[in-house]
Amino acid sequence: MSTTENAIASAEAHSAHNYHPLPVVVATADGAWMTDVEGRRYLDMLAGYSALNFGHGNRRLIDAAKAQLERVTLTSRAFHHDRFADFCTRLAELCGMEMVLPMNTGAEAVETAVKTARKWGYRVKGVPDGMAKIIVAADNFHGRTTTIISFSTDHEARADFGPYTPGFEIVPYGDLTALREAMTENTVAVLLEPIQGEAGVLVPPPGYLSGVRELTRERDVLFIADEIQSGLGRTGKTFACEHEGVVPDMYILGKALGGGVVPVSAVVSSAAVLGVYRAGEHGSTFGGNPLACAVALEVIAMLDTGEYQQRAAELGEHLHQELGLLVGGGAVEAVRGRGLWAGVDIDPGRGTGREISERLMDRRVLVKDTHGSTIRIAPPLVISKEDLDWGLEQLREVLRG
Ligand SMILES: *Cc1c(COP(=O)(O)O)cnc(C)c1O
Repeated sequence: MSTTENAIASAEAHSAHNYHPLPVVVATADGAWMTDVEGRRYLDMLAGYSALNFGHGNRRLIDAAKAQLERVTLTSRAFHHDRFADFCTRLAELCGMEMVLPMNTGAEAVETAVKTARKWGYRVKGVPDGMAKIIVAADNFHGRTTTIISFSTDHEARADFGPYTPGFEIVPYGDLTALREAMTENTVAVLLEPIQGEAGVLVPPPGYLSGVRELTRERDVLFIADEIQSGLGRTGKTFACEHEGVVPDMYILGKALGGGVVPVSAVVSSAAVLGVYRAGEHGSTFGGNPLACAVALEVIAMLDTGEYQQRAAELGEHLHQELGLLVGGGAVEAVRGRGLWAGVDIDPGRGTGREISERLMDRRVLVKDTHGSTIRIAPPLVISKEDLDWGLEQLREVLRG
């Protein structure tokens, strides 16, 4: 057996089969490229679902992490540490907000947002105890905890994991009328992805996000934007909400916030909302740890310059122009997305998304399928135009074949 086959067989034997990875075993990575255990190089067009917006082994992020590793890595929140205040201040500034509540994974931050909205509902809005409702969209992806999968519409994500957490109302994504009709006195929040990532990079119809903003403001309901995948430069702006000039009441951030180095997530909001917490009501052993803060501070500094957002906008325009040329040619049915982020619906006659991904892998390009015959393209924002063009050429070859 080859080194690759050996590694895959061992993984199959000893890890739960909750993923179905492509048969490639990565050993090292740099920028937009990964090298496998047999020395083959692959262009990474997934970027860890946007956790690697700044590329693999980003020098600034690795240096920041190394320097912090030598100082102090964990204090717990039982004590202050000297990177914490800076992290919260700078992240709040980046978001145009006032307060930050740090966590580690995206799902934890979503859970934190749910708890915050409920507490705000009871303490500030005056919803009767135990009655708070949060409205979410069909086909959402917000993580994998028992509460979060309770409001998923994806059978695979939900089945066999009940009983489910109550308190959620599901409406079709992009439908303002349905949202308006679902709102009651007890609605405390609307939780949405400004672009639905896992659903296939679904961009809502124009006017939807601003409509949600208007409606939530009118009804004294929090607008929570899950920007875990769409935020921090991916779409050509710091936040995907900006494309409609919308500022939500709360951002949920994760993925790229940790620079692909450590898990860092956060809920960012106003003092009126995050100010509802008192000591002991919520927390996390690792949330806001010194190493996480040091890496995230470097991420924030990189985003402060705007250069990554601009890169994503420019390369994204090129990406969508090139992908657009494929639509109608028989192989590609539709392309969606913004910035360096695209969902490509392949004609099912050409193969499943999985098969297309495998053929791309044979051509040394790594992508991930979503549902059916859709593949998503989301390279690190540091990818060169030449590499992007080379990746697109491989896609054209695969679709031709
Ligand atoms: C990935 C993702 C999450 C969950 O993040 P984890 O770190 O995997 O828990 C939540 N929301 C969105 C939009 C995501 O893309």
